[in-house]
Amino acid sequence: KNIKKYFPIKGGILRKTVGYVKAVDDVSLNVLRGETLGVVGESGSGKSTLGRVLLRLLAPTEGEILFENQDISTLGNRQLRPIRRDMQIVFQDPYASLNSKMSVQELIEEPLVVQTKLSRAERRDKAIDLLEKVGLRPDDRLKYPHEFSGGQRQRISIARALSLNPKFVICDEPVSALDVSIQAQVLNLMADLQDEFNLTYLFIAHDLSVVKHISDRVAVMYLGRIAEIAPKKSIYEKPLHPYTQALLSSVPSTDVRHKRQKIILKGDLPSPSNPPSGCSFRTRCPKAHERCELVRPELTEVGNGHYVACHLYE
Ligand code: SF4
Ligand code: MG
Repeated sequence: KNIKKYFPIKGGILRKTVGYVKAVDDVSLNVLRGETLGVVGESGSGKSTLGRVLLRLLAPTEGEILFENQDISTLGNRQLRPIRRDMQIVFQDPYASLNSKMSVQELIEEPLVVQTKLSRAERRDKAIDLLEKVGLRPDDRLKYPHEFSGGQRQRISIARALSLNPKFVICDEPVSALDVSIQAQVLNLMADLQDEFNLTYLFIAHDLSVVKHISDRVAVMYLGRIAEIAPKKSIYEKPLHPYTQALLSSVPSTDVRHKRQKIILKGDLPSPSNPPSGCSFRTRCPKAHERCELVRPELTEVGNGHYVACHLYE
């Protein structure tokens, strides 16, 4: 609820705070048990920061984070520890996120050592079971990350994230670093695991095509704010926000009924330390008008769980 995450910018010889990067600027959303909420935006839109704040890997500057009705936004590390079991993250880069000096067995069992009292044999059995569930072989646990391909490493990251039977998993661009040919395999695996483990996903991606199949709802972020959030069908068939329309126009469609003219956005993403007044998208919006410069549009429901922040729909 109303999450903000501002990073101070230091300047001058005194290293005083001269401004803030408003990475997340007043975001409210809910994630329903068992669903996948896709979160899409360009780099710099604040989507990864939002994910880290929701898991309390970063403290919010403002706002409340309710996990199963418990406010976790101000808890200290000690109080967060039992809750961390239930919330995990799979990072974008399986090369950077796995410690290369640890064997696969050690990587998968590390959370179990920290958080459970399982015996060595129980941890080994658990690792074998998880490796099979992610499509690797039991013997793979004796190997090291560099012995695997990118896709296999991401399978190891997923096994590690699932070792504590979490309820909520944030997937931060888990397939972006992988070859296109294996992206679908990993996405399908994640969808299967979601059913098997009753997982709830917040699935971060930088374009709408990646989250199309896995999401139940999709949120589109721009400069730290939500531009539009809606059930999947509405976002892909009836996008309302001019930014969503532009993003979608670059997704190749096989369906002739949904062929769209490609919309090219002018200019670059403005700096999140100095966002435009009014609607932050106005400098690139093909439909910007006078009001857009003066008044910031609020996220408003236009029907059936479809919310949009744009003056065209008020
Ligand atoms: Fe474009 Fe104005 Fe809507 Fe912003 S509020 S998306 S500038 S039309
Ligand atoms: Mg990111």
